Amino acid sequence: MGIAVGIDLGTTNSCVAVVQAQRARVVEDAEGKRIQPSVISFHPGGATLAGQKAKDRLVIDPKNTIYSFKRLLGRKILSEEMQNITDEFPYSVMEGPDGIPVIQARGQELSLPEISAIMLKYLREMCTQTLGVDIDELVITVPANFNDVQRSSTKVAARIAGFNVLRILNEPTAAALAYGFGGQLTEKIAVYDFGGGTFDITIIELMDDIFEVLSTAGETFLGGDDFDEKIVEEMRRQFLFMHRYDLGEDPIAMQRVRTVAERIKCQLSNLDEVEATLREIAYGPGGVAIDFSFKITRTKFESMIEPLVDKSIATCQESLKLAKLDASSLDSLILVGGSTRIPLVRKKVKEFFNKEPRTEINPDEVVAIGAAIHAFSLTGEELPEDLPAPVEPGSGVDSADMLEPVRTSAPMAKPTGARPPPPPIDSTQRIPKLQKTIMGLPAPLESDEPSHEDPGGDLPDVKSQAPPPVIEMEPDPPPVIEMAPESPPPPPVIPSKKAPPPPPVIEMEPDPPPPPIDLVAGEDRVLPKDEKGSFSIPMVSTAAASTLLLDVTPRGLGVATAGGYCDQIIERNAAIPVEQSRLFSTSTDNQVAVAINIFQGESRRVEQNTLLGQVHLSGLRPAQRGEVKIKVVFEIDTDGILGVSAVNEESGEAQDTRIQLLGGLNEDQVNALVSKYSKS
Ligand code: ADP
Ligand code: MG
Repeated sequence: MGIAVGIDLGTTNSCVAVVQAQRARVVEDAEGKRIQPSVISFHPGGATLAGQKAKDRLVIDPKNTIYSFKRLLGRKILSEEMQNITDEFPYSVMEGPDGIPVIQARGQELSLPEISAIMLKYLREMCTQTLGVDIDELVITVPANFNDVQRSSTKVAARIAGFNVLRILNEPTAAALAYGFGGQLTEKIAVYDFGGGTFDITIIELMDDIFEVLSTAGETFLGGDDFDEKIVEEMRRQFLFMHRYDLGEDPIAMQRVRTVAERIKCQLSNLDEVEATLREIAYGPGGVAIDFSFKITRTKFESMIEPLVDKSIATCQESLKLAKLDASSLDSLILVGGSTRIPLVRKKVKEFFNKEPRTEINPDEVVAIGAAIHAFSLTGEELPEDLPAPVEPGSGVDSADMLEPVRTSAPMAKPTGARPPPPPIDSTQRIPKLQKTIMGLPAPLESDEPSHEDPGGDLPDVKSQAPPPVIEMEPDPPPVIEMAPESPPPPPVIPSKKAPPPPPVIEMEPDPPPPPIDLVAGEDRVLPKDEKGSFSIPMVSTAAASTLLLDVTPRGLGVATAGGYCDQIIERNAAIPVEQSRLFSTSTDNQVAVAINIFQGESRRVEQNTLLGQVHLSGLRPAQRGEVKIKVVFEIDTDGILGVSAVNEESGEAQDTRIQLLGGLNEDQVNALVSKYSKS
């Protein structure tokens, strides 16, 4: 095994980290940026762009610029939640084979694993450029509530990008590793992750250096984007009141409003009042330009987002219930995700758990850092010390990342701190304004990038900072080609109603399930923190490769049985890896085949659960109903990926379904993509 990196492939942003000189370091891009937007853009000249360069094209080429693709990965297009998302996207999402979404951009059709692979390949090339070595092994993180199809699609994406996946790790588990929890202590840790579009809460128990995930809960559609939208609504309301004109009628104006709204939000994490001016946002009678000045206090903003923050707290409550714990029994609390910089979020979380949260590591980087540490524990290999040193050692604290008052008309980035200065920007050049839909991306400009802020420091005394900074927008509308229509935020996830007709019914005769496979206890290293707040990583022997991280399956898994029922084979929150099997029998006389539908969800009724895949088993001996027995085996590996097989108990013949979990691609298609991207 060679050196492996840790990658946090986020919905909004991605981050890469690696262990070097006993420390986890973030891998920066050529400009010293530590976080890369998860965006891909297909340029008319034929180039495929990723990261910031792709994000810069969101406004000028929205049809060929793909963002939030992680939301589509491993999902079926016809599910209701997908419909709501895809209606929002300015790019084209079509139905591909087996109802899997495909993206059409610049005359090509691309699967979601392929899109994700382009992003991963970009990150891989960034490593080569920054570190001077090729890295082809990785630990990649996924949200705790990713289902099996989403996990295996992630794995396929990494494979296409030329990576050998050592492990798929839950994001909160990685965050806990980054904070180096462990040692002789037994601790229960809550990981509260509030990102751009999703919220996750996970409760982990640490015992004898082993991490066990006790429960996970989440909201697939709750994140920083919703906070932006609250400000957008308020701006629209005020403008309507003042000028009797709804900015919502002008997509270009709305785009500017959204961009500013996100900036205001980020500023309000540090200041108690922010003022923004959007010049020439509309035109009045006689074509007179109307400027729009908008002022908002943190108190007002907090009152607008409070119900959303409370929603996350209710999910925390659910997660505690699942883990059969109360808040007082938790020892530590870790904050992850850019939205946890919002003081109200910190306050509410602290109140609910009655605990001071850990925030020393930049919440945008903590997951990648944990993944890198885990990668190191699996390989025992670190980056040689003579390779380029990190710009800034591990802690993620970067004074250059402090938020600045927003001034879009002053495009010079401020080179401060240890970060190398960004290339000078021609001050006559117009700064691109970024496309941002409801599901969209943060739209930072050079010096006020929202995802960089003092990660752990106290907030400045905001009262001393009057007057509030004024945000000015340039009057020229950006050259938007096509805008996503404004529409309400998507509803919470509801399982697809498109369940296929029930298979030739299999009648359940559940035998007592075999006990879960014994888990072999390994060792998770404990990573003591040095005084500087960075991470000293003890050298480990290759025995560390046996490191065990216990995780749980986020949802129950079962099969459809007679009468539209769903029979659970693996329960929600079962520790993985796990294998469970059940015996079923034929339900009609002379039945020679069965189609076993695999569902995810806890409901007794199939229609309320989500169909994951199917196994067909034919060649059964014609016999009276109930005579022929079929064993259905569910197995979840350490990456949380489900394999299902159906075995004819008489002949020993078996069928399995892993192929259907490859994100809509079969093995040949995956191999074709692997060779396509290894050439380019
Ligand atoms: P993801 O995990 O979804 O990729 P991140 O953890 O990078 O997302 O979080 C992105 C979100 O964090 C965006 O909504 C962004 O606006 C928000 N964010 C970043 N910095 C701040 C800040 N200082 N205050 C409030 N929100 C912030
Ligand atoms: Mg994240």
